[in-house]
Amino acid sequence: MEKRFETQVINDEILEKLNLDHRYDYLNENLSPILTESQFAFLKEVQGFCLKFEEDNNITHGPNEDIYDWYPTFGNQGYITRQYSYKSIDLNYKEHGMAMDFMRILALDFFDPQFTMGSGATVICINPIQEHHDNIPIRLEALKELVTGKTPGCLLITEPERGSDAVHMLTTCEEQGDGSFILNGTKIFNTNAPRSKWAIAYATAEKNNGNLMGQFLINTSWDGWSCERVGIPWVSKLYIGKEKLENLKVPKEYVLAGIGKGRVHLFEGLVPERISIAVRGVSECWGALAYAIIYANMRRQFEKEILLFQGVGFTLTDLWAKTTALTHGILKFCEMYDEKMLKYEGKLPENISRALVALGSQYKYNCASLSKKVCYETANLMGGAGLCDNTLMQDYVNISRIQEIIGGSRQIQQFIMSRNLRNQFKNL
Ligand SMILES: Cc1cc2nc3c(=O)[nH]c(=O)nc-3n(C[C@H](O)[C@H](O)[C@H](O)COP(=O)(O)OP(=O)(O)OC[C@H]3O[C@@H](n4cnc5c(N)ncnc54)[C@H](O)[C@@H]3O)c2cc1C
Repeated sequence: MEKRFETQVINDEILEKLNLDHRYDYLNENLSPILTESQFAFLKEVQGFCLKFEEDNNITHGPNEDIYDWYPTFGNQGYITRQYSYKSIDLNYKEHGMAMDFMRILALDFFDPQFTMGSGATVICINPIQEHHDNIPIRLEALKELVTGKTPGCLLITEPERGSDAVHMLTTCEEQGDGSFILNGTKIFNTNAPRSKWAIAYATAEKNNGNLMGQFLINTSWDGWSCERVGIPWVSKLYIGKEKLENLKVPKEYVLAGIGKGRVHLFEGLVPERISIAVRGVSECWGALAYAIIYANMRRQFEKEILLFQGVGFTLTDLWAKTTALTHGILKFCEMYDEKMLKYEGKLPENISRALVALGSQYKYNCASLSKKVCYETANLMGGAGLCDNTLMQDYVNISRIQEIIGGSRQIQQFIMSRNLRNQFKNL
């Protein structure tokens, strides 16, 4: 295995055993009993691709690699997203839906967690175009470029003064006589924005009025777009943006939702976004566990493998059992979501949609919280080796903390869930 950095901390024998191939073997041992044949086959297919890509390109996951260089190759294989089949752009992926996308994310996250988080941000740019392209050629062109990895994409909701309270945004959209709009305002923390050709942005006809929101597809080469990179050390390879939209003109065919419809579009995107974050959380748990379990079975102290000391072994069993349980839960959710989307041809009835919002929050809340615990505790069990840069453990620890903030913070998920408890009671 290629070393990430110059100074090797972990001995040759253990470092070799910690390679991607063995970590996938560990995952597959755990998941093969619960996956369907087609899920497992797709998981293995993506794993095979990642293994070959890593080897052929001597990927070390070290600081000098640009993860954005990998987009076209993964996009060509259809590994940027599998939430839909993308028939409208002639891709027609056989393996698609939330459960298949779970498999894609699992394989990619073991390969490189920062790349996987970045592709997740591209997916939340893709989804609104997929839902609302209305067969308009420029929208289909943007969709194809994003799905096939020609460019990353970004989603602009958050503003410097409106984070959790995203609906009361300050960025304005002013309708012109010809159906085009002029946008003005500042957005922040938008993953991939400095590297994206395409962005989806929300703005409102009246500041602080969430009912008057619109949704817009933007080509970032247009006049009126400027973007700086925001430093987020926990994901040092991702490009997060702060954008100024100054008299940015959006032509009519790029307007995905006119005034008043933006709010509905924003909420419809939240369930798949939160479920994808939850899936990434569980994938991080497995990734970190794979490292720590292999390590603890090989690392010897006091003349024994450290796994055999209860302080290590029993801590690992607790994290492993919790990860297994949550994996079963989120997989069941994904399968149920796919069934409902198929049955209702993508237009879910109001009561099911409402229930999914609460479930999306529950899973995002639980998976982000478990990931934070598992990634930190597994790194801790590896002692100094868990803190050094010879493995992906630092990426896991850092990203797991970010998952608790993006897509609505932990407290916002609790806020949504508690509102749901109130509504359920009112309906009794
Ligand atoms: C690495 C990274 C990537 C991101 N990617 C994107 C992206 O691609 N697109 C995008 O639009 N945004 C993105 N975000 C923004 C992210 O969604 C916001 O940071 C998040 O919603 C919180 O907003 P804020 O940072 O303004 O915090 P604030 O809203 O200011 O919250 C501060 C604290 O107050 C708490 N809080 C706020 N309101 C309540 C309440 N009602 N009840 C209880 N507690 C409350 C929060 O939980 C938090 O702990 C990203 C952020 C990061 C860090």
